[in-house]
Amino acid sequence: MTTKYIFFTGGVVSSVGKGVTAAALGRTLKERGFNVAVQKLDPYINVDPGTMSPYQHGEVFVLDDGAETDLDLGHYERFIDIRATRVSNFTAGQVYNEIITKERKGDYLGGTIQVIPHITNEIKRRISLVAEKSNPDIVLCEVGGTVGDIESQPFLESLRQLRSEVGRENVLFVHVTWLPYIGATHELKTKPTQHSVAALRSIGISPNIIIARSDHPVAKDLCDKIALFCDVDRNAVVPMVTSKVLYEIPLLLEKTGLPDYVLGMLKLEPRKKPDYREWEQIVDRVNTPKPSVKIALVGKYVELEDAYISVREAIKHAALEAGVEAEIDWIHSADLERDKNLEKLQDAHGIIVPGGFGSRGTEGKIMAARFARENKIPYLGLCLGMQLMCIEFARNVLGYEDANSSEFNRASTHPVIDLMNDQRSITDMGGTMRLGLYPCMLKSGTLAAKAYGSDKIEERHRHRWEFNNTYREEFEKAGMVFSGLSPDGKLVEISEIADHPYMVGSQFHPEFLSRPNRPHPLFVGFLKAIAKHANK
Ligand code: GLN
Repeated sequence: MTTKYIFFTGGVVSSVGKGVTAAALGRTLKERGFNVAVQKLDPYINVDPGTMSPYQHGEVFVLDDGAETDLDLGHYERFIDIRATRVSNFTAGQVYNEIITKERKGDYLGGTIQVIPHITNEIKRRISLVAEKSNPDIVLCEVGGTVGDIESQPFLESLRQLRSEVGRENVLFVHVTWLPYIGATHELKTKPTQHSVAALRSIGISPNIIIARSDHPVAKDLCDKIALFCDVDRNAVVPMVTSKVLYEIPLLLEKTGLPDYVLGMLKLEPRKKPDYREWEQIVDRVNTPKPSVKIALVGKYVELEDAYISVREAIKHAALEAGVEAEIDWIHSADLERDKNLEKLQDAHGIIVPGGFGSRGTEGKIMAARFARENKIPYLGLCLGMQLMCIEFARNVLGYEDANSSEFNRASTHPVIDLMNDQRSITDMGGTMRLGLYPCMLKSGTLAAKAYGSDKIEERHRHRWEFNNTYREEFEKAGMVFSGLSPDGKLVEISEIADHPYMVGSQFHPEFLSRPNRPHPLFVGFLKAIAKHANK
């Protein structure tokens, strides 16, 4: 079968949930028996988000193959339950990089290199890689940013060309827009949507479907108005009101009739009847009142929840399994450090220290780890959170006062966390960490082995520093258990405190593999320990 493409563009403003909408539609199509692949095109010039501040970009989502990608890939993996690969995300930076490298090699000798056709051809080539790689029935492809942005123009032009190349019957354009609400008159406005569709049409793309996002109910006559002025079918204007329950969105989309409309437009017959029993159960569980527990998430970028989006989702998934309502208290590590006061942690039933880079706030996180260890409060350390848990142990149990990571203090006489050997000669910052899926062996009888119920696991990584093996024996004698090691035994992957209900740190990022219907074992272990602790 020819691969079908559904392209998603954004209108009016960014952050309207284009990624979630695309991911949810992907789920409804998978439920009809189609093999769905995904792709996100990012029009910015960075080669990937790996070197961007989380304040600018939110979380960097790491794939099995080590690609550092946009956080929308996380939505796709969680909603559709797939494992994406490198071809599923590319940026303008990668496209230009490729073309300029070829130009310098002399591949175009004599020619002038231009946005059209060189850049647009490269964009189209990269879009076709998804179909080549996994031979999907349907590719859902989202263009980052908002229609009207100067930088997205070559991308939209490429999609326009692609439509005539692969055939109109094989391509759909879905425009996801925002309806602003005017408080004074209590009404939603469609004018910005009309303008953004006009902008899209001026570059030759008429959307087939408009998803009208809003925080308020969207009346039928408003949808009809959008249909009339934006020249789409009446039943192709789909209102999507912001949902309190994220994982309800596929069910809500289903109610709008959109999935069948999409298949009709693409001339596809459903291969099976959707079965949403699992999703309905998730939504039911979310909506059932549960005892509430408080989790302190001590991080550096807490002003922006998007910086920890997979961690937040993994907590939610595991909380459902543990039968509790997890309330996350976002605590700025630099505040703890500045105020030298742990009052903010007093009523936490559990503490999470997520990943991070650079020294700002690390002392605050170390204080939080100490508090968790000494007060036997469940603790989960993710990557940096594991490293800091080891530093805290070295300082306050082993008595090495200046213990640190060489990332933060090169002069420390006890660098219990040190640069990995194969990182020492690396000077380029982009894409050079230990990235992606690596195997790990678990020590039987440990909290980690019990949580996973297995002795060999594979998890996604993103780090340069590691536990310094010089200190392994000493740590073990003092009560630290290295419950997960790389198969050659050389890298510490999981550490835990023996005499503690649940103090576990992982060098990898378990949050990337958590699914709403398959919560991650380390998070489930953490939430179950919290539920027990909170009961006391
Ligand atoms: N900065 C630490 C390292 O590079 C931790 C990285 C992380 O938390 N992802 O090893």
